[in-house]
Amino acid sequence: MPISDAANSFVCDLVAYEPGKPIEETARELGLDPSAIVKVASNENPLGPSPLAKEAMRKAIEQSHIYPDGGGYKLRSAIAGKLGFDIENIILGNGSNEIIEFLCHTFLNRDAELIAAKHAFVVYKLMATLFGAKYVEVDDPDFIHDLEAMADAITQNTRLVFIANPNNPTGTQVTQEAIDNFIDRLPDHVVAVFDEAYFEFLDTPPDVLKHVRAGKNVIVLRTCSKIHGLAALRIGYGVAPKPLSDLLQKARQPFNTNAIAQAGALAALDDTDHIEKTRAINRQGLEFYEKAFAQRGINFVPSVANFILVEVGDGDLVFKEMLKQGVIVRAMRGYKLPGWVRISIGTSAENHRALEVLDHVLAISATN
Ligand SMILES: *Cc1c(COP(=O)(O)O)cnc(C)c1O
Repeated sequence: MPISDAANSFVCDLVAYEPGKPIEETARELGLDPSAIVKVASNENPLGPSPLAKEAMRKAIEQSHIYPDGGGYKLRSAIAGKLGFDIENIILGNGSNEIIEFLCHTFLNRDAELIAAKHAFVVYKLMATLFGAKYVEVDDPDFIHDLEAMADAITQNTRLVFIANPNNPTGTQVTQEAIDNFIDRLPDHVVAVFDEAYFEFLDTPPDVLKHVRAGKNVIVLRTCSKIHGLAALRIGYGVAPKPLSDLLQKARQPFNTNAIAQAGALAALDDTDHIEKTRAINRQGLEFYEKAFAQRGINFVPSVANFILVEVGDGDLVFKEMLKQGVIVRAMRGYKLPGWVRISIGTSAENHRALEVLDHVLAISATN
């Protein structure tokens, strides 16, 4: 008997998450120098980690023989203080993705339903599948979450509704009014998950924390992977009313976030200089791409995040051809967008290089 026959069928059926192609792997396969490769595939911070975080992490290394504070007291206190909550409202995750897993452990089973938008961050579907739950997909006209339709889709079996705001890979945001109306309609047996991985990039940030403060079944997820430039550390956090955060704490391994990551995150939160520099370079990069695509008559989705979705004809082909020239973007077939690629905003030099290579590849595919 093959061992897969003994496994849960919903796990066997799962299509594993395909991350952005790593620089080292690309360099090995193409025989290129890693330093010549531009990776604009995973929405990472082109300025690197927060310098304050680096310094704090160097210090933390000295205590690597000691188990971390599994409760994350210092970091959770700092986050709570910053946002005006109590430490009990804050939960840490090995990346905010781990908190998505806590939510699924806590609320999903084979009868439960998880609702998300058609072009939502793909991890939600992966998790629903992994837990054997039903994944309910709601149309998102013009690539914007339709919160009214998502509320309409709620049934007695619904447990989780995921709203990525702004969403990845679309880069679009929902309005405060849509959020408030949605929360008004939220039944007691459903948790609304607002994934705010790109919150710090927003010029008009929504206020979802007021609903957490009001004790609604709402959790806000944030991460140190994006604006803080600490994706490799795997650390993020959730903010939820105490009854909800207490439940999620039970789903967590004792030492789920490590001490170096906690130290780095703590310092990064206060690194306003790095945050502002990142916001500025991102704004310039978005303007650069939007202007360039408009000039070329290339269809794109206006973005409020640190990446941009652009229609290129054959996304897989453009990905492959750009890769050959050392620029890693993300093909979007897995998001039901086979004609599109997603490009993360890089430094000015990286953006120029990526556009140059894209131009070259599009010219080639146009003549074929
Ligand atoms: C990048 C991203 C995250 C962050 O995941 P981490 O596990 O914190 O690195 C979460 N949600 C969305 C929508 C993202 O794009």
